[in-house]
Amino acid sequence: MKKRVLFLRPYYGFNVHTDAHGELGMKLDKHDIYPDLTLLTAATVFVESKEYEVRVIDAIAQERMLPDELLKKIENDTFDIVIVKAAGSTIHSDLTLIRTIREMMPQADIKICGLAAKILKKWLDKNASYINEVITEPVDEYAYEYVTGKKGSFVDLPMPDYTLVDYKSYRDAKKGLRLTIIGSRGCPMSCMYCPYKQYYEAYEQREAKQIVAEMKKLIKLGADEIQFRDQYFSANKEKTRELLETIIKEGIKTKIVCETRLESLDEDMLLLMKKAGVSMICFGVESGDDMLLYNYNSVKGVTKRVKELVDFAQGIGIETMAFYIIGFPEETWDMAKSTYELAEFLDTTYVHFNEYEHCHFDIDNTEYTPDLFLPFENRTSMEYPSILDVDEIQYLVYLFEIRYAMRTSYEAAYRDCYKVFYDNRRAVEKLSHFVDDLYHLSECARELREEGWIDA
Ligand code: SF4
Repeated sequence: MKKRVLFLRPYYGFNVHTDAHGELGMKLDKHDIYPDLTLLTAATVFVESKEYEVRVIDAIAQERMLPDELLKKIENDTFDIVIVKAAGSTIHSDLTLIRTIREMMPQADIKICGLAAKILKKWLDKNASYINEVITEPVDEYAYEYVTGKKGSFVDLPMPDYTLVDYKSYRDAKKGLRLTIIGSRGCPMSCMYCPYKQYYEAYEQREAKQIVAEMKKLIKLGADEIQFRDQYFSANKEKTRELLETIIKEGIKTKIVCETRLESLDEDMLLLMKKAGVSMICFGVESGDDMLLYNYNSVKGVTKRVKELVDFAQGIGIETMAFYIIGFPEETWDMAKSTYELAEFLDTTYVHFNEYEHCHFDIDNTEYTPDLFLPFENRTSMEYPSILDVDEIQYLVYLFEIRYAMRTSYEAAYRDCYKVFYDNRRAVEKLSHFVDDLYHLSECARELREEGWIDA
């Protein structure tokens, strides 16, 4: 008889992009829903072995299924293996959920995965006897070894089978079907604030042929847009060129979004990207203060050149999205101001200002507790000397987002920044009381949903 395996990505009222931010997960204030590629790939590995009966519940994709509905759905079912994808911002509720599943399925082999689980491994091993195993590597690589008995790496993995989930829910803000793909994993750079470096060991890249075959499948599923989740899309210029040329040669017609370092591109590469269908390039600028970036081993290109490339990309019809970080420990008000001024100077189509997150986890030597993570926040409780305090940083992030949005429309600034910011803050305040009480949390989330504070 086949063993029954359940892959679970829970949802607690907030939209968490669980394979983002080095798989620590990122709570999004936007309403776009992203798949969790690593979890989906792990499920695909089990399906392909033919020895397991696999079920995947992606609660956010399944009509934003709250935990009480989820528990009801599985209460009369039994699984031999349950694998739960945890995130930093939801870890308290993830653990409560797993405890409840343990009561329902005393015999199940329950595993937890994600970077948050890896960070908490020492504590979980001692204190969470309801969990059988803490998976510390990306769960798809774990699945490969579990199923085949051989150690594999990213390039050995199959592409995820989207038909295992309700993939039609993976919509962008304009309601287009956006499916994600990953051509390379890891990054050859070493920015000190980067959580990916704590999770993906090496930089590896798939062959162009394999990626293009997968793109064809996603187009058949109806994807309006394919987003590459590579941390550094054009890290290997030769291979990137080969991939783009293969996309063009094979006649792939879709909108492509990727994330890269802009200074790694040039005009020829941008033209090739445009021809291949790239519609938006996202890239980190992080700070307007070069010395600050230098201290974090993050050396960006010369501003004048980055500006030329932004203008060139936009001139040929590729949108640009720049990411900035506010609140580095050494950051002063003036440094933050220079970051905003740089954003205005670069004048990208979109910007995103993020709060600095202290990602220096000493996983080998420190026993972190779940209280390291603040419920439903994209930051930790870790204390470190910082010139600006949390309030000041959050104010600046909010101010910069709204100021940038106001350049085009006051209405958009109200709708996309002011309203989202305040609704979200109030929802976090309310729901964080119930992180350990999933039934009340579900009720409260349902009320907030009706009032339009979440899930708008
Ligand atoms: S370039 Fe991006 S992905 Fe690479 S180490 Fe720096 S922050 Fe991380």
